Amino acid sequence: MPDGLREAHVHLEELGAELGAINLDSCRSREECLDRIARRATEVPPGAWVLAVRARVEGWAERAWPTAAQLHEAAGGRPCAVKSFDIHSLVASDEALRVIGIEPGRPVDGRDARPTDSGADLDLIDLDESGVPTGLLLEAMAQRVLDAIPAPTADERLEQVRLACEDLARRGFVEAHDMWSRPTLWRDLADLHDAGRLPIRVLVHPVREDFDRAVAERDMFEREGVRLGGLKVFTDGTLNSRTAWMLEPYADPRPEAPAGRRMMTDDEFIDALARAEAARLPLVAHAIGDAAVRRRLDLIERHGSRAVAHRIEHAEFIDPADVPRFAALNVIASVQPCHLLPDIEALRRLTPDRLDRVLPLRDLVDAAARAGRDPADLIWFGSDAPVVDPSPEDNLQAAVHRRRRGMDEAEAVAPEQALTEAEAWSFMRAPAGVEAP
Ligand SMILES: [Zn+2]
Repeated sequence: MPDGLREAHVHLEELGAELGAINLDSCRSREECLDRIARRATEVPPGAWVLAVRARVEGWAERAWPTAAQLHEAAGGRPCAVKSFDIHSLVASDEALRVIGIEPGRPVDGRDARPTDSGADLDLIDLDESGVPTGLLLEAMAQRVLDAIPAPTADERLEQVRLACEDLARRGFVEAHDMWSRPTLWRDLADLHDAGRLPIRVLVHPVREDFDRAVAERDMFEREGVRLGGLKVFTDGTLNSRTAWMLEPYADPRPEAPAGRRMMTDDEFIDALARAEAARLPLVAHAIGDAAVRRRLDLIERHGSRAVAHRIEHAEFIDPADVPRFAALNVIASVQPCHLLPDIEALRRLTPDRLDRVLPLRDLVDAAARAGRDPADLIWFGSDAPVVDPSPEDNLQAAVHRRRRGMDEAEAVAPEQALTEAEAWSFMRAPAGVEAP
């Protein structure tokens, strides 16, 4: 691994919060999970939450989640939740169920045990044979539990940000680009920097609501190790929720939006482009589907300046006609190949007819070279951690092999788009001259 890596898309506060939780990556059984919860519970005051993340129950000896009652006992009555690695489900302890209005141990019949505020979806609550919630909650119901966990105090938050930066530094990163950065983050980073406790350089990217404030506060928070990197906008949804905006409908479409949806009007995008350029910064646009990518390129072509290297984040699908436009328009494809690894099954299910358009890295490299550009200036790798691990090796694996370790070659997604190892590393290397502050 070369030194001096750049993580081009990460969420530091969220990564830090995960690092503060019990990490069940290496857990092999339900018993071990409960043991680790019981141990952590002795370290936190009564009433404080105990959170465990990245449970992969399929890999546990029992292949079964703990129950709400088992978590209650292990956590000594503290509210406790165990989050699945795919973040779409979690198990809540008795106390955590109560917090969101579900009475533990009683059957949910749609009336008396119904969560208090409206909008609860009974389909998302797992029930045992007598109709009693097991503790397992899905999607929006799982999110309710996460939303109920109190926000960290200022000191806890600072410590979490430091943990996240240290985790990245340990993996070889010297620069990280935080996305959807909030004012608390850039102030925390400046404090950490001044205290000599910031081991990497961080570029922050606020959304529109915070961007003007970031520009106004620039003189206050910018340091050698902390910079305002650009303006972040969201222009479509995500693949797994079938809301990424595609040129053609999904194989298993949502009736109300068969080809996903765009999340920003053209006027809003043009306005954001102008605001970013007025600050001489790039617009950093989340666009996952090929329709979203095309529209961003169209609008940058018509309204943007070539002098600023604007960015498209994710760009998971790119129509072949749009591939050369990145180099022609000086737009950076800021991609996360590592997502290919957990997404292979979802891609086959949702977009079986256009797997050849998934992350066309080979074509992007060749198009950049044909345009006389250094591909490393136009293709950047990141992880979107904590959605997945911020692992350079996973990005390498995905970019070079297009499939998970141990998978058969025939299972690779668009293997013709594979890169060499040297190419993959070049897209993770920090720009020359960047060293840890
Ligand atoms: Zn992200």
